[in-house]
Amino acid sequence: MDERVARELLGQARSAAQQRLRDLGASFEDIVEASRDSNGDDEHDSEGVTVAATRAQVAALIAADRRKIEEIERATQSLNAGTYGRCVKCGTRIPDRRLEARPATPWCVDCARG
Ligand SMILES: [Zn+2]
Repeated sequence: MDERVARELLGQARSAAQQRLRDLGASFEDIVEASRDSNGDDEHDSEGVTVAATRAQVAALIAADRRKIEEIERATQSLNAGTYGRCVKCGTRIPDRRLEARPATPWCVDCARG
């Protein structure tokens, strides 16, 4: 994988994740706002459950995006250190095709499966 291409791909992946994080943060606030408006007695009715479930779902997506951004940061550091494109587990060179699809992945296909 060409270093310039790798930087480009990581930059794009980071922008996309950050944008999604902003969108999720906005909808999370909407949900919190909506649940604050509802009466406390309604906490256990179906609508309250739906709000709680949606909130948990959005929180999980936010956590996943934060992890993704950390992964991208680590990949960028490994690019600077000259170790980018090698599996952190077994040291195998990760194929370009995989890096093009998942530029921040620290693992080869086999290690990602295991
Ligand atoms: Zn591996």
